[in-house]
Amino acid sequence: MSHDASRRRFLTTAVAAAAAAPIALSALNATAAAPAAAAKPLPKLPLTDNAAKALAYTENAAAVKHAAFKAGSNCANCNFFKGAKGAATGPCTIFPKNSVVAKGWCSAWAKKP
Ligand code: SF4
Repeated sequence: MSHDASRRRFLTTAVAAAAAAPIALSALNATAAAPAAAAKPLPKLPLTDNAAKALAYTENAAAVKHAAFKAGSNCANCNFFKGAKGAATGPCTIFPKNSVVAKGWCSAWAKKP
């Protein structure tokens, strides 16, 4: 094999490796991100939870008789609700281990700005 042929083969291999590197890295990133995307949803906040009881949490804001209740307030329009718009349930900053019902309410309700 001539020196030129050997050099040409080396350059071809180097260019191919350089071109493949970003593809391989993006495949690795996709693999690393997959578990986060597939994370399990939070379990629904039980009405028997002590913190939920202390804050008078309910899954039905329409039936609330609490003194702090403001007409029209519910989890979906609370500043602590972190669920997607239109979602039936979502995370709440006050109850970080559970999801709450969008139509629910508790006495920590604060209007979304
Ligand atoms: S803090 Fe807001 S979102 Fe969380 S349970 Fe109470 S009313 Fe619902």
